[in-house]
Amino acid sequence: MHVYAIGMRTRFRGITVREGMLFDGPAGWGDFCPFADYDDAASLPWLRAAEEAATLGWPDPVRDSIAVNCTVPAVGPDAAAAIVHGSAGCRTAKVKVAEAGQSDDDDVARVEAVADALGPGGRVRIDANGGWDVDHAVAMIRRLDRVGLEYVEQPCATIEELAAVRRRVDVPIAADESIRRSEDPLRVARRHAADIAVLKVAPLGGVHACLAIAEQIGLPVVVSSAVETSVGIAAGLALAAALPALPYACGLATVALLDRDVVERPLLPVDGAIAVRRPHPDPGLLAAAAADPVRRAAWLQRYDAVAGRTA
Ligand SMILES: [Mg+2]
Repeated sequence: MHVYAIGMRTRFRGITVREGMLFDGPAGWGDFCPFADYDDAASLPWLRAAEEAATLGWPDPVRDSIAVNCTVPAVGPDAAAAIVHGSAGCRTAKVKVAEAGQSDDDDVARVEAVADALGPGGRVRIDANGGWDVDHAVAMIRRLDRVGLEYVEQPCATIEELAAVRRRVDVPIAADESIRRSEDPLRVARRHAADIAVLKVAPLGGVHACLAIAEQIGLPVVVSSAVETSVGIAAGLALAAALPALPYACGLATVALLDRDVVERPLLPVDGAIAVRRPHPDPGLLAAAAADPVRRAAWLQRYDAVAGRTA
């Protein structure tokens, strides 16, 4: 069991250090890294995903390269444009909107700057992380769609609100938290609340579990990361590579958010895509990323508590 603590280049989900555990098995390495706000029960799918990686492995890929988007946090327009220009050729950008402390005009300026930076043929999607009510979402989507939005991710918090927004706008709606945080990931489709499903391997219990959800939900899938090391990102790539259809760029270009990685050749994009492969941790890099003894003990305890729930 290797417990790691890796600094984040940009504050994300309110955290500045990404922590988790890596372990290996007959099929390879797994990355167990539930965020701190996941309790033991909610962390269980993360453990199943890591155990699947280590013991079972993943289905054969049907493609060898995955187009990815860059992610633009709630920054000013100049910084947003700089992220696009420095994104290793990504032709799709996901722009965060509706964040606390940002005005509607700030969101519009950021989205317009990103569209300009991408130029003709670029695709802009926005992610509100459930931050709008229905009327606000409809007004902002119409306003932001002047640049031609690819889709809007989680404009509102609830499935009922997503369905209401979807009836009133032409821009496709993607569900993220409504699938990941739901007791029933398929409810979003039954309520006609989304056009696209965002799936994340770890919180949904592994690659096979996500493939089953994808089949049952009957919506196009965008695979996104949970800001894992390259060991965890490899599972997201395996899902993206195994899906029968993959019409959208995936949110797997997140290794660069971390200060360091545990593999020699991290899973980073080149020309807007990540090659499908499974890198193995390097012993020296594992040692360099190792958590201090206090955090190591805390993670071993957390592992025991979560693993105990499987018994
Ligand atoms: Mg999202």
